[in-house]
Amino acid sequence: MAHTSVDQHAALVRSLLARAMATGTERVPLADALGRVTATAVTSPVDLPLFRNSQMDGFAVRAADLRDGDTILPILGEVPARRGTPEPLIPSTTVRIMTGAVVPEGADAIAPVEDATIDGNLVTIHRARRAGEFVREQGSDVRAGAELLPAALRLASRHLAVLASAGIRDVEVRSRVRVVVITTGAELVDPGQPVDDGQIYDSNGIALEAALRACGAEIVASIRNSNDDADQLHDAMFAAAAGADVIITSGGISMGDHEVVRDVLTPLGGRIGHIAMQPGGPQATGSFEGVPVISFPGNPVSTQISFEIFVAPLLRRVAGLPAATRAPRTLVSDLASIPGKRQFLRGRTVEGGRVDLVAGPGSHLVAGLAASDVLIDIPETTTELKAGDTVETIEL
Ligand code: AMP
Ligand code: MG
Repeated sequence: MAHTSVDQHAALVRSLLARAMATGTERVPLADALGRVTATAVTSPVDLPLFRNSQMDGFAVRAADLRDGDTILPILGEVPARRGTPEPLIPSTTVRIMTGAVVPEGADAIAPVEDATIDGNLVTIHRARRAGEFVREQGSDVRAGAELLPAALRLASRHLAVLASAGIRDVEVRSRVRVVVITTGAELVDPGQPVDDGQIYDSNGIALEAALRACGAEIVASIRNSNDDADQLHDAMFAAAAGADVIITSGGISMGDHEVVRDVLTPLGGRIGHIAMQPGGPQATGSFEGVPVISFPGNPVSTQISFEIFVAPLLRRVAGLPAATRAPRTLVSDLASIPGKRQFLRGRTVEGGRVDLVAGPGSHLVAGLAASDVLIDIPETTTELKAGDTVETIEL
């Protein structure tokens, strides 16, 4: 069998998923838009602030009316923050004004209430103000027609806030990548059910779906094939494929006797092979009803690491999410690595940013993976590393 490297398989997966990653767009209400990615730039339909308003609770004045020391002015009314246009300010008078209220025509500054002493209908303002002080000019934040948000931006609360401030109710975002998740294995039982001898709990289903969602994808169907029956798997895939951009499977692609995914994909021209990688050696790709299929081996650590290496980077890019952080770190202890395989060992960062091994390389060690916070990425050709050596790590 020809040697396939991790990078070659990653390139194959990338090309197979290229079309699936180029999703369409949809309009969603702001309330549902958190974490979505803008499909286009959004321009402001309005000036922000919408109108000239007061930055303080105080008195609307003409700056020219105030002297350096005390100025006594008659209070002719009050402007609260509410709908409506106040009367123009009469020179040498003032009106009480609240934060956010429309500044009356003729007024050009706000004297904060803290600098004023009220006595009935008169107020003594204790210091002068420059024209414009504590006045928030219309359009001083953004002008109508200017860009509020760029395209390809992942929406956080502050972005939703500026859209809402401009009166925008919904936003055009990239559609999510729609994924069907399939786990296979006659030994699998859902968590919460009793297990008999020989049975294990399905952890790949929950892990893959959570990892997909964390990458911005949408799970459109979860298929749990727990009888290793290829016909049934085929039918379930047929029912789910129509609404999917990608199908991801776990298990059933090795050299055993009940390899259902292999049995379904092989007649359709699927490629079932072996990658120079540990964990995650067996890998398969295919197409089902025109939908690309990416198949991982069933061992839970293999499935999770395969997803992280081959699929997560693609999804993160379309979802506007940052790529996993890669960083060189110093090894705490010696390690040995399998020759001819790119190995992804489980590591935990310790004091001083160094990294220690967690658990062994076994691809069933789910607790070990849960206890790790990085993968240690060891090149195919490396067989031995010493404490103090530098290794490349991938943050989980
Ligand atoms: P397979 O790739 O189907 O040969 O499975 C390899 C190993 O992974 C076996 O020990 C399976 O029991 C285990 N396994 C397969 N699927 C799952 C799953 N969904 N959750 C947990 N373990 C699994
Ligand atoms: Mg199996």
